[in-house]
Amino acid sequence: MNITLHPGREKSLLRRHPWIFASAIKSMDETLRQAQGDASGSTVDLLSSDGKFLARASYSPSSQIRARVWTFTDEPVDKEFFRKKIRAAIEMRQRSNIEARSDSYRLLHGESDGTPGFVVDRYKDVLVLQSTTAGSEFWKETVADLLVEETGIQNIYERSDADVRELEGLKPITGMLRGTPETRLHITEYGLRFFVDIAAGHKTGFYLDQRENRHRVGELARGLDVLNCFCYTGGFSIHALVGGAKSVLSIDSSADALALGRENVDINELESQRAEWMEGDVFQLLRKFRDENRSFDMIILDPPKFAPTAAHAEKASRAYKDINLLAFKLLRHGGILVTFSCSGGVDAALFQKIVASAALDANVDATIIEHLSQGSDHPVSLHFPEGTYLKGLICVKG
Ligand code: SAH
Repeated sequence: MNITLHPGREKSLLRRHPWIFASAIKSMDETLRQAQGDASGSTVDLLSSDGKFLARASYSPSSQIRARVWTFTDEPVDKEFFRKKIRAAIEMRQRSNIEARSDSYRLLHGESDGTPGFVVDRYKDVLVLQSTTAGSEFWKETVADLLVEETGIQNIYERSDADVRELEGLKPITGMLRGTPETRLHITEYGLRFFVDIAAGHKTGFYLDQRENRHRVGELARGLDVLNCFCYTGGFSIHALVGGAKSVLSIDSSADALALGRENVDINELESQRAEWMEGDVFQLLRKFRDENRSFDMIILDPPKFAPTAAHAEKASRAYKDINLLAFKLLRHGGILVTFSCSGGVDAALFQKIVASAALDANVDATIIEHLSQGSDHPVSLHFPEGTYLKGLICVKG
């Protein structure tokens, strides 16, 4: 089956960007046209307007991203093809020596590992697989078999419940995929232990992408009064406590996440009186703290994705500015702001501008001492800049 593109619309493929939008398609061959929905996830050839082979891709009949490239080479897309991709992904993680830092890391990171639609996270002895596209759905069982064969891990849990599946016309699916994985497990990150609930937790259970940044916060926290906003299960809080923070106040709107946070204090044998947990809305609580003249030495802001795409950038910018402005006000002189955005729709340059304008409006001077990003287990293909989504700044208030 094949798809022919409009003249000129092959340009992005020649730059090895892996997406083809519906508007780029001139025609489809007879078989594909007749099959339509039945061809969901099937492998199709992408041809230039003059009939040259450009790439081999998966077909998504319902999505605006109508095809996602598996390969730019004229090679079969079969079980052995996915074995090669999985082996390459494993090798890349070995090369970055990720296991020296944690027993839990991302093994397959979608487009950036050449496997669009597949996210696979390793939590010690369990893999959590998330499939988000028609193409990944088509190859899911094959990839599950290969993961067992190539990693030797017998247990795979499926968390295909991300909202983006809807755009592909796919229903949410969760549950056991291979073996009988425990759904509540504990992992080790830089020697610290964390409870993870792979069935009910956010994403696949834990925000693995912040591992190195959590560790960095631990190194900076000695003797400080820390406020950790959007704390989830207390990743940054535990690192700060182990790093010797005087106190850590952690805020999240999820009571379940906070309950795990408290347990994480216990399994790391930390004194619970240094850790306070507060359920509530960060936007409101920061205002309340300002009105009460409270202050902190370090504030961490790791909010959820305010702007999934560039279309949401303006509204998201206001939200980022709001919390960063309040944080600058609550920081003591010389205090540290550790601020993040995981929005694909807000790039690093825009994020830095937002933080700068927050400092300006808060009437404070601040200096960037570090730029932060996602861990090396969340690689970014040079041809897929969208893969860079997490950006962070460490600023010192003057
Ligand atoms: N820093 C965490 C991950 C944060 S994810 C870690 O390292 O593990 C974002 C968190 O923000 C989620 O736990 C979500 O429950 C919480 N959240 C979302 N909106 C919120 C709000 N308005 N106020 C407080 N928490 C919020």
